[in-house]
Amino acid sequence: MANVELRNVTKVYEGGVKAVDAANIAVSDKEFVVLVGPSGCGKSTTLRMIAGLEEITSGELLIDGKLMNDVAPKDRDIAMVFQNYALYPHMSVYENMAFGLKIRKYAKKEIDVRVHEAAGILDIEELLDRKPKALSGGQRQRVAVGRAIVRKPKVFLFDEPLSNLDAKLRVQMRAEISSLHSRLQATMIYVTHDQVEAMTMGDRIVVMRDGLIQQVGTPLGLYNQP
Ligand code: ADP
Ligand code: ADP
Repeated sequence: MANVELRNVTKVYEGGVKAVDAANIAVSDKEFVVLVGPSGCGKSTTLRMIAGLEEITSGELLIDGKLMNDVAPKDRDIAMVFQNYALYPHMSVYENMAFGLKIRKYAKKEIDVRVHEAAGILDIEELLDRKPKALSGGQRQRVAVGRAIVRKPKVFLFDEPLSNLDAKLRVQMRAEISSLHSRLQATMIYVTHDQVEAMTMGDRIVVMRDGLIQQVGTPLGLYNQP
């Protein structure tokens, strides 16, 4: 189970920028929710607060009803995939995928099983010995997703994961992430500025603007609105 709930969550950065303004978002267990809106509207900040990478100024983050505001990122059952992939350049693909498990003190054998399993799902088994610089953009993105999958988290967060890919690959990876959602049965929160991506991928869509939540609905529901 993993319901994610933001109650009246506000983020004011040092210097006074109010990036998120009293946001209320409730994501159900196993739901795929897309946060969409123009650049600078507070999507990434929202995601980073859920991950624990950014402090919440006021309001509450609850996961399965438990208050998470002060829980360290590594103790949240959450994995995040970044736009820039955030791969360690000096590590191989295998080491990149293993890293999050290693720092959480998983046994070598278990790490090995999980890395190979994730590599199989993502079709990157032949790449495990390569360094990130020897990979294409699409392959790097797969590794970044693989690094999240090996953790088997209850919640996945995606921060514009496809925006550095060319159009064709973007369409392909959208389908892959959607099928990953069915396969893994996890709760997923996905940030994009691309409305088509939001409409095609989301069970539900949260539209943000200037730190505020403007609309929430299913793709069909939003499409039919005036
Ligand atoms: P989005 O993901 O929708 O592009 P962000 O959450 O990145 O939006 O940013 C929301 C607002 O917060 C923007 O005005 C941005 O400039 C500001 N912001 C983001 N990160 C920081 C930061 N570390 N310090 C100060 N302001 C920030
Ligand atoms: P996870 O705990 O999800 O497996 P990691 O342990 O790989 O993630 O990374 C922990 C933190 O280090 C994350 O906040 C991530 O953004 C950051 N990070 C990961 N890779 C890099 C990198 N190559 N350069 C800078 N920061 C990174």
